Amino acid sequence: MRVLITGGAGFIGSHLAQACLARGDEVYVLDDLSTGSLENLREAKENPETAGRLFVHVDSILNDQRLMELTGICDVVFHLAAAVGVRYILDNPLLSIRVNIQGTEKVLEWCSKFRKKVLIASSSEVYGKHLHAPLVEDDNIIYGPTSRFRWSYAASKLMDEFTALAYHRTTGLPVIIVRLFNTVGPRQTGAYGMVIPRLAAQALAGEPVTVYGDGKQTRTFTYVEDVVEALTGLMDHPGAVGEIFNVGGTEEISIHDLALRITAMTGSSSPVGLIPYESAFPKEFEDMRRRVPSIEKIRALTGFTPKTGLDAILEKVIAHIKARGA
Ligand code: UDP
Repeated sequence: MRVLITGGAGFIGSHLAQACLARGDEVYVLDDLSTGSLENLREAKENPETAGRLFVHVDSILNDQRLMELTGICDVVFHLAAAVGVRYILDNPLLSIRVNIQGTEKVLEWCSKFRKKVLIASSSEVYGKHLHAPLVEDDNIIYGPTSRFRWSYAASKLMDEFTALAYHRTTGLPVIIVRLFNTVGPRQTGAYGMVIPRLAAQALAGEPVTVYGDGKQTRTFTYVEDVVEALTGLMDHPGAVGEIFNVGGTEEISIHDLALRITAMTGSSSPVGLIPYESAFPKEFEDMRRRVPSIEKIRALTGFTPKTGLDAILEKVIAHIKARGA
């Protein structure tokens, strides 16, 4: 099979590319390297088993010509290219909206023209600021005001979902929507805010570990290889078409407890400090207090269940940072 992965040089995209290559696919990557890097694809490029089946195009998904060519030659499309990371969104508000909304619209348009099955990577951010758990795919959504730019990311992903579903309903385009919860693993950079690589790098360097706010906000975390298995499982399942699925971990932990676990596991003597949000972000920043998925829907369809627990995830991330740096 020929697979197009937009955002294929990114953290999740590069792991997906390797999984597709490992099962014998030809993989076409389209990535503008805004947050991704060619280094993420080095292993695949250096592996003689896979190098000849990996084709990397450094370009924007806003480039129609390139998108047309690649959508035309591939059988299926995983659309992962997006502006990601709370820090990146706040620093690049206009670009983020443009890439996330116009980019996805273009991907859908070309997939529709060529009748190619497409999986759209959406986000748990779409749920907004719920306090209840677990979050179910057809829950209502609650956002803050437009003056708080974090919500622009949620709203852009929401529009991506609406657009994908509209293509499905009006043209019969086979689309699958996946709401990814916090995903972690090797190659994820802490540069755009992601908490586990940031805290692990701080602990390993003996620097203060920066917990924002009161540290009582909670998350669940999924290992990237589990996420990749969920994505390929959904793409391969005819019952997934036209549907939305949560993909995430189930072990809820507060960020303060996470910081303590990371310092214990690294044997670090770094102090765990509480940093007020105002010191870390622009003053209009708003955090998500709680975010826990229900994964019953994907479990019922494909049998997916995350294999890697939080301690194992932390061990792998810590080992990766020790070996290669943050
Ligand atoms: N966070 C933190 N310290 C950091 C980075 C993040 O306390 O150095 C917190 C952040 O405020 C949020 C959680 O960790 O409550 C997860 O942040 P991340 O940016 O990884 O993902 P989010 O779930 O916010 O998209």
